[in-house]
Amino acid sequence: MHEFPITKQIIKIASDKAKENNARKVTRIALVVGEYSGFIGDSIMMYFDIISKDTPCEGAVLEIENVKAKMRCPDCEIYYVRKPLSFACPECGKDGEPSEIGKEFYVKNIEIET
Ligand SMILES: [Zn+2]
Repeated sequence: MHEFPITKQIIKIASDKAKENNARKVTRIALVVGEYSGFIGDSIMMYFDIISKDTPCEGAVLEIENVKAKMRCPDCEIYYVRKPLSFACPECGKDGEPSEIGKEFYVKNIEIET
């Protein structure tokens, strides 16, 4: 549900960029969505089609790059995708810690047509 306001915001950012550059429309928006960002790419995609109607973003391609969450082993200093039901580091077997990888959520790129 909370994807609705964030999708609105993404459309506003992209539409503002189009206006600032006197562009007719936004052609492509690239979004990075981490697994643990709290947002679901599919929901954003669904809202995007609805909210973008009658905005410069209508018809734009929304590209979503999903980032898998990774654990970090404090001993080996490596990042890894954990196995189901396990937090163990693949190198030493020790339980790793959650890392920042997988929490990202940002607009990576906006393409406009002038
Ligand atoms: Zn380790």
